[in-house]
Formats: sequence, structure tokens, C-alpha cells
Amino acid sequence: MINLLDISWCELEKMPRSETVFFQVIAPVEEHSHHLPLGTDLFLGEIWAKKAIKILEENKPKLNCIMMPILPVAAGSMKGFPGCLYQRAKDVRKVLYSVLQNLAQFGFQNIIVVASHGDPMHQISVEKACEMINSKYGEVAISPLGSIVFSGMRPTKGANLSTELDKMLQKYKFDFHAGWVETSMIMAEKPELIKSDIYSMPDIEVTDREMINPSVYLKKTAGWGHLGYPKLSDQKLGNELNNITSSDLAIVVDEFVEKKDCSMYKHHFLWKLPIFRILT
Ligand SMILES: [Zn+2]
Repeated sequence: MINLLDISWCELEKMPRSETVFFQVIAPVEEHSHHLPLGTDLFLGEIWAKKAIKILEENKPKLNCIMMPILPVAAGSMKGFPGCLYQRAKDVRKVLYSVLQNLAQFGFQNIIVVASHGDPMHQISVEKACEMINSKYGEVAISPLGSIVFSGMRPTKGANLSTELDKMLQKYKFDFHAGWVETSMIMAEKPELIKSDIYSMPDIEVTDREMINPSVYLKKTAGWGHLGYPKLSDQKLGNELNNITSSDLAIVVDEFVEKKDCSMYKHHFLWKLPIFRILT
């Protein structure tokens, strides 16, 4: 892995455009209930990108994988909690567009945006920035997490889930924010950052229909900040979730670098509703 901040412009200039891949994590500083740090989404994006880079470096030793400085820029909806540093959706799109353009104008052909935050407005702002860049420079940028993580459209070549994880994901699927999924993933990588006794925390149950209306879920989670089941967290499941996410990401990056058709990985399922594209 190459850190962009460690190299000179001359080193970057020498890199073959088709064999260089940039990884741009973009997610919010955001409240994650009483037990998880404000940096949860940024940490997870970084973990997944680094694990995916490790897989790619083994499979494609000629590839230069460059980690970009992380962008703490995002649209979000957990209003009323200190520590949420949100931007407007259009501003997210504009900032990311300018970052992508700075790379694309020098002929770089592979920019992977790791948008590790599930809010549809964030996902669609990011996807729109990629689409605008691609309409100007060709297929150079992709943000696959809206599809492969947040819409459940995993690559067909992706590894099978263990029976235990599969069961949990089906049974406790309404685990939208700082619940067992995110807590398990942080537990697997940064257990020292988990702050309170998760086993005494309440389940806060919200359906996918209720998730459409912030006033409904913000009322349910008032004083807490999670939506889901933190007490069901498990380090082993967290490790598997991180590994699956990273290996799925590596599959998409591999196909993108080979310039195969990646259209199925481009969009969150709500992209098809025009209102989201108007607001971003
Ligand atoms: Zn999160």
C-alpha cells in the first residue's frame, strides 16, 4: 500500500495510469450511541480499504494501490447529537467531484470511492460525483458500497457467509446504526474503543419503512443514538463481516481495473428514485 501523503509528485507522475488505483474513504464523524466512537464509519472505511488492498496486492503484484487521505465529509441524519459533523448533500457531491477531478485530469483511470456510511443521501451524492466525473473522463471512478453493502447486491463471485452470520443478518436485519453489525466490526478491529457495557443497552427496533422518516426513528432513539441490537455483537461475526466486505470490495476493484462491466455495482437501490438525484 502506498500512502499518497508519503510520495512526491514525481513518483506519482511515473506511475502507469492503468495500473494505479486510488482508494478514497469518505464518511462522517458521527454519533454512534453511547458505546462506539464518533469515528466509527471512518475507521470501518479505512479497515475495509486496507484489507481490500492487501488482497489486491497478492493477486495483482504490479498494481499500485494508493490510499488517499480520508475525507470526513458526509450527509447524515442523526440530528440532535453533538459530534455529528455533517455537510449538505450537494456540498458532499461538489467536494468529492473536485477531488476526483484533480486525479482524473492527469489521466488516472481507477479511483475507488469507499463511502462507508449507509445514509442514502450520502451514497447518492457520492455516486452522482462519480457519474459526473465519468461522463467527462470515461469510466474512471466508482463507489461500490451503496450497492454491495447497503443494498445487499454482493458480487456473484463473493465468498459464502457462514450459517451463523447468514442467520443473524436475516433475523436481525433492521440493524441500521450502531447496532450489532457495526459494533461487531469495531469489536474485531478496535475493541479498545468500545466504551460502555453493551449488554445492558436496550434494543431499539425500527422497521425499514420507519427508516424513511427521521422524526420517527430519532424519537425512538432519543438519548441513545443507535438503531438496532448492540447487545448481540460478537467479535467473530465482526471479523467475518469485515473480511466479507473487503473481499467483495477487492472483487469489484479487480473487475473495474480490468475495465469489465461494473454497472451493477454503481448504485444504491434508491438511486432510481429521482428525488434523491434532485436533492444531491
Ligand atoms: Zn456508522
